[in-house]
Amino acid sequence: MILSLKIAVIGAGVAGLIAARELKRSGHQVTIFEKSGQIGGTWAYNPQTESDPLSLDPNREIIHSSLYSSLRTNHPRHLMSFSDYPFAKFYGDPRNFPGHEEVLKFLNEFWVEFGLTELTRLGTEVVRVEAVDDSGYCEWIVESRKGELSEVEVFDGVVICNGHHTVPRVAAIRGIGQWPRKQIHSHNYRVPEPFHNQIVVMIGAGPSAYDISRDIAEVAKEVHLSSRNSTCGGFYKLVNLSNVRQHAEIDYVDESGRVAFVDGSSVCADIIFHCTGYKFSFPFLRTNGIVTVDDNRVGPLYKHVFSPEIGSRLSFVGIPCNITLFPMMELQSKWISCVLSSKVVLPSKEAMLADTNEHYRSLEERGIPKHSTHSLATTGFQYLDCLASQVKVQPVEERLKNIYKQLVSVFFSSEGDQFREWDVDSWVNGNHLKLLAASE
Ligand code: FAD
Repeated sequence: MILSLKIAVIGAGVAGLIAARELKRSGHQVTIFEKSGQIGGTWAYNPQTESDPLSLDPNREIIHSSLYSSLRTNHPRHLMSFSDYPFAKFYGDPRNFPGHEEVLKFLNEFWVEFGLTELTRLGTEVVRVEAVDDSGYCEWIVESRKGELSEVEVFDGVVICNGHHTVPRVAAIRGIGQWPRKQIHSHNYRVPEPFHNQIVVMIGAGPSAYDISRDIAEVAKEVHLSSRNSTCGGFYKLVNLSNVRQHAEIDYVDESGRVAFVDGSSVCADIIFHCTGYKFSFPFLRTNGIVTVDDNRVGPLYKHVFSPEIGSRLSFVGIPCNITLFPMMELQSKWISCVLSSKVVLPSKEAMLADTNEHYRSLEERGIPKHSTHSLATTGFQYLDCLASQVKVQPVEERLKNIYKQLVSVFFSSEGDQFREWDVDSWVNGNHLKLLAASE
């Protein structure tokens, strides 16, 4: 007999859509709660920004997506595909690294194709998730709001897919309290025009810092890149632009507008731009301290998905980073779905806790800071292979792993500024090319 549970999925971004599809396929009764008026999450570009450019004001209206207008994907479409639903069709932008609009169109098609529209409650924000009682965690209260209307329902399980690129992490800078000029976080960046003729100090060394610096350098007077280690090769080329300079990390700033770097250089700047990543946040989740966010570690979570104490009825999709996210979210969703259908049994609470603690111990031993708990950069594809073996599906294809590895090496090489021009198809075997051709 198929076990059909009533499951709430929170969020209709990539994670929520793939989780809902897998749960639906397994015969569960799924409700997707989505606070905004459309699906797509991050990929639903919003030209509006928050009232506080650093997003520190607790009373601000929160804007979910952090996309900027010029954004092109930093992974090729091959890596933004699902195992049986490749991002191969062109919706107007045939580039391997398309603009953000293309991804949203793909996700909308996926939403319709798999019959998820009727399961989705748009404009409905989840404000409370709490176990009915803590003896078994088998029932969950989900309180949601749609406009003025509030509803409290009970579900057999909750899958949390609320994304984690919305609440900025801001760099701690000595003397920032005295800094009299502007600051902004990349969450609130959309277009370069406001930076016209400005002297900008950009903190960060990831893909967004690179893209945005390039955008801004077109109009700004000067762009000063500052990072602990600017590992992205593209930055080497950026400094060839006449108005871009590279520095070490910031030492201090002062009331005159001076930004001093630890390498002894300094500049009098108009704006400090934080391209410093995001924090996990689950404002609706009440677990009596069982699942916490501590220095950006969401835990304890067994393999970044299940709380050992709570077990199968509460899960998280999309927490790890520095890997191919679409395939990872698909595998996590298949695992959750199999566990909820009792096709796969989770280890005992003690075994899950021991595994999780061992993971934390190994991070510590390797000197990896707590805030990088969910980075898979050092473990590569082991995690995805482990998920695939849990649910007895084929691991992520070698060709995709090769593309990802090549992408990372190009990105960090001196050719880093060329990574979107790279001939991805030269790494892809005939099958995928056939799929592309078939969809044309
Ligand atoms: P999100 O897309 O953030 O979706 C979460 C959803 O949950 C949102 O729709 C939100 O409205 C909803 N929600 C939140 N809270 C609630 C609530 N309380 N109640 C109801 N609904 C709620 N990934 C790639 O693979 N390739 C790329 O090239 C790439 N580029 C990126 C560039 C930028 C600038 C950023 C910020 C991210 C990029 N990513 C990229 C990562 C991207 O975040 C993932 O691709 C993916 O969008 C994550 O999906 P998600 O569903 O986990 O989160």
